[in-house]
This record gives sequence, structure tokens and C-alpha cells, in this order.
Amino acid sequence: MTGDAPPPEPPGWRSAAACAGLPPKVVFSKKVKQAAPALRACAGCTVRGHCERVVAPADSWFDGVCAGRLWRSGRPVPLPADLALSLPFTGGRVV
Ligand code: SF4
Repeated sequence: MTGDAPPPEPPGWRSAAACAGLPPKVVFSKKVKQAAPALRACAGCTVRGHCERVVAPADSWFDGVCAGRLWRSGRPVPLPADLALSLPFTGGRVV
């Protein structure tokens, strides 16, 4: 492993996701209102960095919620103030 390689994913990190119990239609919604429960879950999610690194939303044309943001075709969607968590984009670092 080189110094630039990302750390390995801990087993089972997905089960620790704060959104784990939410329906896929919420987590992978393109619509702000429908995605709101997932966006709120991100605020307290302990695996946000893993989520961001694995999904790599900006590089994968991702649609849905990842790391406190709503994405459409790999672009972050502007959020209303009550859902904008002011979360830094970590670039996949564990936070
Ligand atoms: S950061 Fe958000 S979308 Fe990612 S696993 Fe956590 S709650 Fe789910």
C-alpha cells in the first residue's frame, strides 16, 4: 500500500449508516423534499467519510443523498436552509 492509498473500509460500516433504515426511494431520491429524512440522518452519521469515499458522488454521476448533500448526476443540489447542514466536503476522509 502506498502513502496515498485510502484506508481500507472497515467491515460493516454500511450497517452503521444513519440512513440504514430509510427506504431506498428516500436515500436515492433526486427531490429535496423526498430526500429530507436522509439529509437529516447525515447530520448525525458516524460513517459520513466512508460514504463519501465509497460513493464518490462527484465522480460517479450519483443521484441521491451522500455525505449530507443531495446529488443529481454527480452535482450537488442547492438545499433550503433547514436542510443545509454546512457539512464540509471531506474528499472521502473519515469524519
Ligand atoms: S452520510 Fe448520509 S447518506 Fe451516507 S451513510 Fe451516512 S446517513 Fe447515509
